[in-house]
Amino acid sequence: MDEVAPGVFVATAELYVTTTTVVAGTDGGCLVIDPAVTVAELDELASWLSATGLRPVAGWSTHPHWDHVLWSPELGDAPRYAAPAAIGIAGEMRDDIIAGAERAAPGLDLSLVGRMQPLDAPVIPWDGPEARLIVHDGHAPGHGAVFLPDSGVLIAGDMCSDIEIPLLDTVAKDPLGDYRTGLERLASVPGVRQVVPGHGHVGDAAELRRRLALDAAYLDALAAGKPADDPRLTGDSAAWMRDTHQEQVRYFER
Ligand SMILES: [Zn+2]
Repeated sequence: MDEVAPGVFVATAELYVTTTTVVAGTDGGCLVIDPAVTVAELDELASWLSATGLRPVAGWSTHPHWDHVLWSPELGDAPRYAAPAAIGIAGEMRDDIIAGAERAAPGLDLSLVGRMQPLDAPVIPWDGPEARLIVHDGHAPGHGAVFLPDSGVLIAGDMCSDIEIPLLDTVAKDPLGDYRTGLERLASVPGVRQVVPGHGHVGDAAELRRRLALDAAYLDALAAGKPADDPRLTGDSAAWMRDTHQEQVRYFER
């Protein structure tokens, strides 16, 4: 676990460079955001928490994709929340979510996968540093980033990555518009000092600006039907991401 700001810890899983964020609260309670990914990694997280004297008192899932709705028995039975729109999709897509989790992280307790309750509130209700929610669509319905104003940490979910291009929700009515609105909402959060993407590496405020600009340029290229000149998209990029890029190009060519 890396302490990226006082009381804010980030672990990075092997698969997709997926991050887990833990925010220390009062009296040994902590908030766990998007714990990931494998059984071994979740075990390691639980061991680290108990060795550090932290106990999950709340969980948050940034969005309803399988790698962001995981949990393990060792993390306890704290309430786990997500935005209402995310809960709706998580219910509709439950079979896909379970299949994704089973395929990539066999052995997880599937009864705990995707078991969040809807939270329609400006902040996560817990006895710890204020955790403001920034909910929007774009990557997925009800995508909820978390901003910790005390430490200036923005937990961005699957937005603002240094290694992934914008991945759009192409079944939405206005995928580009939704994504742009999401970027604007994140760009307008005042006082961000560090950004923690769901996949990739922690960056500072300047790095957040760079990623927001890259994402906007990528969307502009898609909308214009021009080839994307994006440093995250190279011959060495993951095959799935190059494929998704091609699908997104084809989608906007229609
Ligand atoms: Zn995602």
